[in-house]
Amino acid sequence: MLEGKVAVVTGASRGIGRAIAVKLASMGAFVVINYNGSEERAREVKQEIEAENGTAAICQCDVSDYGQCETFIQNVIKEYGHIDILVNNAGVTRDGLLMKMTEEDFDRVVDTNLKGAFNTIRFASRQMLKQKSGRIINMSSVVGVTGNAGQANYAASKAGIIGLTKAAARELASRGITVNAIAPGFIETDMTSVLPEKVREASVAQIPLGGFGKPGQVAAAAAFLASEDAGYITGQVLHVDGGMVM
Ligand code: NAP
Repeated sequence: MLEGKVAVVTGASRGIGRAIAVKLASMGAFVVINYNGSEERAREVKQEIEAENGTAAICQCDVSDYGQCETFIQNVIKEYGHIDILVNNAGVTRDGLLMKMTEEDFDRVVDTNLKGAFNTIRFASRQMLKQKSGRIINMSSVVGVTGNAGQANYAASKAGIIGLTKAAARELASRGITVNAIAPGFIETDMTSVLPEKVREASVAQIPLGGFGKPGQVAAAAAFLASEDAGYITGQVLHVDGGMVM
């Protein structure tokens, strides 16, 4: 499975990233659990992995900061020798209608969700090129494909992730590195727990399979894309959305 592999999962202290970290560890990978503010939650993820005889470390890094990402990735390589799987999952929302959206809210979302993925790929891909192997998985969203009123910043960042994924897939393919994106629909996490009941009901009505998805269902897709079995798949966007976009 993933024995001997080193996996970095950004934003793994909570939600989807947490589920991905736990899943990759259960398949035998050594997992670096990245977090920004939630140190205690990151420790809990490490404990959960170790309780199942998995191995993991936690590492603080604000992915929107280029310099911090350079140090973070270089430290991972120094400490653990290689990087085989990079999951760019860290993400934030700062919703608001365009007319009211502040420059700060636009920048915060794009800097974290899109530039954050560039920052880690920039440094991890150098190592993967040397290894002539690697798996990069970037978290997009259905909103990056369809757009969504009140989420211009978020939709732009998630559409950008798709372009970044395809460009990186083309650049890195000749060295055996695959780059894919996952586009989740509505998944039960802290991010969606703040949705008002009315919005929730209207959202569920748009989901052919009915109901919100679970973080584990996104983690299963990430685990597949990280596996040997996905070796001939690159530049793709895998929707995990209950059929919202088809
Ligand atoms: P979440 O529960 O709000 O968790 C977000 C995670 O991102 C946390 O672990 C957080 O870490 C981390 N993070 C935020 N800013 C960061 C930064 N600057 N540097 C490093 N880590 C940072 O979100 P989620 O719902 O699991 O979403 C995970 C990903 O899936 C995001 O990219 C999101 O856009 C995408 N997505 C989610 C849904 C959904 O319905 N939930 C749908 C489509 C796409 P700390 O708490 O440690 O700061």
